[in-house]
Amino acid sequence: MKFRLNLSRLAALAASATIGLTAANATAQSLIRDAEVERTISMMATPILKAAGYAPDSINILLLNDRTLNAFVFGGKNMILNTGLLTRVETPEALMGVIAHEMGHIAGGHLTRRQINAEALQGPLLVGAILAAVAGAASGRGDVAVAGALGVQGAAQRSFLAYTRGEESAADQAGASYMEQAGLDPAASLDVLRIFRGQEVFAAGNVDPYARTHPLSGDRMQLLEDRVARSSAKGGKASEELHYWHARMRAKLAGFLSRPARTLSILETSENPNSEFNVLTRAIAYHLLPSPRDALAEVNRLIELRPNDPYYYELKGQILFESGDAKAAVAPYRKASQLAPNEPLIRGSLGRALLALNDPAANAEALTALEDATRTDPGEIAVLRDLALAYARDGQEGKAALATAQRFAFQSSPKDTYRHATRALDLLPVGSPGWLKADDIRAVTERSIRAKN
Ligand SMILES: [Zn+2]
Repeated sequence: MKFRLNLSRLAALAASATIGLTAANATAQSLIRDAEVERTISMMATPILKAAGYAPDSINILLLNDRTLNAFVFGGKNMILNTGLLTRVETPEALMGVIAHEMGHIAGGHLTRRQINAEALQGPLLVGAILAAVAGAASGRGDVAVAGALGVQGAAQRSFLAYTRGEESAADQAGASYMEQAGLDPAASLDVLRIFRGQEVFAAGNVDPYARTHPLSGDRMQLLEDRVARSSAKGGKASEELHYWHARMRAKLAGFLSRPARTLSILETSENPNSEFNVLTRAIAYHLLPSPRDALAEVNRLIELRPNDPYYYELKGQILFESGDAKAAVAPYRKASQLAPNEPLIRGSLGRALLALNDPAANAEALTALEDATRTDPGEIAVLRDLALAYARDGQEGKAALATAQRFAFQSSPKDTYRHATRALDLLPVGSPGWLKADDIRAVTERSIRAKN
């Protein structure tokens, strides 16, 4: 699946709200980007998507930094998972159960029937809706914000992404089938519903948004229990490997999303303070404190434990880079990049560290890394900014202008986009791939500017 917006939707002139899981913004409301977490989610979602008859690339999964427990879909192929869901759901099977249930809504076309029309969800509105979801996260009601972005007014906003009881049960049943096809006991889906059952007694304000949009009735629970009782996949569990990565994801998110002093004090009383996952959480907490020396000591223990793990080297690079030592960060980022050559976010980080050295010899390697990063993941604002700088330092002004045009496109600045695309067209050889891309961007931007006036 994709964790990013396609460049083909550049039409949207989207602001890409995508930023990494870093110290500076870990507490901000944002979409989260993290190579390791995305890979883990992908490992969980892929078998479910396949069971539902969807190609992994056909669904955008976005991770929203929001502590409430929520998951929702909109626009027919976008699924948002809150970090509150990722951290609170304790097993990979239960999380896969949530994904399967959401896929049940997608496959059943539940919202698309109601959602104004499909056209409205293409292009600018789609991306606007995603950004609204991000903004709405502050209120814990991304779904309401999405409704607002799509022009749904008043009381309808509150129920816009809410399903009927019939749809809920249909999604439960479809989800249970997907789980079975993936070899998993659908009983895991009941675990999540049980989290909400206790919340029904609370006032609406205290209920997780998921419970509001996915109404939990006694009937629904009963129907799913019946379905689970006659499941063909009783006892089916996710692989040991997936359990490992799922637990590690929770440890990583716990480190980044909680206050470090609090994390460290909790770890002090932990039964097994030196378990791999506790060391991981502690490394991150020290990094955020910030106490880079302690953070490095912890991350080195992790690397000793798993000397071929790209994400531990990536974390080491991040600790070094963000504590001001770009030079030292290059080696671990380079190692991470060798171990996981197809991770654009890691390639982007390596590029950034190399660029920070401000040395012509390092610039060539930076350029290659940044080109790799944007080739498969073109919507990262910071990477596009770095790429433009690397091109400019290399004297490739046309390509620098193109990268800048792309960045402004993702930042919803049509006039700046137009200006830089025009400059790229002037500088690049007519008909070259870059020129063609700049021409597309300018044409789309022109239409968008005209449509607004
Ligand atoms: Zn539902």
